[in-house]
Amino acid sequence: MIVAIDGPAGAGKSTVAKILAKKLGFLYIDTGAMYRALTLKALENNIDINDENKINELALKASIDLRGNPDGSLSIFLDGRDVSLDIRQPRITRFVSDVSKIKGVRQVLVKMQRELGEKGDCVLEGRDIGTVVFPDAQKKFFIDASSQVRANRRFKELKGLNQDVEEVDVAKDLANRDKIDSSRKVSPLRKAPDAIYIDTTELSIEGVVEKMLELCKENG
Ligand code: C5P
Repeated sequence: MIVAIDGPAGAGKSTVAKILAKKLGFLYIDTGAMYRALTLKALENNIDINDENKINELALKASIDLRGNPDGSLSIFLDGRDVSLDIRQPRITRFVSDVSKIKGVRQVLVKMQRELGEKGDCVLEGRDIGTVVFPDAQKKFFIDASSQVRANRRFKELKGLNQDVEEVDVAKDLANRDKIDSSRKVSPLRKAPDAIYIDTTELSIEGVVEKMLELCKENG
């Protein structure tokens, strides 16, 4: 069974997707981490983010692996190196949406995501899972929250990673990424017509997970 979870940055997708996958005993796939890993590779190779041909070439050469840990967390490997922390750096966050809007990049990463998903039961989280990657997913969710709450959650998360950030800058970054992600030509962030919309602004993580778990167990 495929569970697709989409929504804007900071809505709580990763947190609920990870817990839901663990409770269901499914594989958890963070597709945003894959776009981040490729962005890291581009920056490390000093490639101009606007040079679509070079970025496409890089995508074809990149080896991106996701490995689940026993505690339910996920480690991301780029060309055999653990980049789980590196991909959360502000410089990656700043450029990831520009890399993600490139058609060739999406073709390569969507193919990888389908291959991972076809291995068995999994929860995939991203922007285009229910619309493009797995349009026939058995369960689809669109997780949202007010922009203020999303910025505050992301700010706390980055502080937890010891990043020296200001909440106002986090809010600007989220607004900027949402704008690029929602307006790009290829696979823009959209709620699939058959996705269940959950506004988490005033809900606890536990409440959201319980609701999703119940819905996943309905009709098998
Ligand atoms: O989920 P996360 O915020 O880590 O995603 C980082 C970026 O990766 C998003 O802002 C978006 O540009 C891109 N992304 C995407 N499609 C996905 C997942 C992420 O374009 N399925």
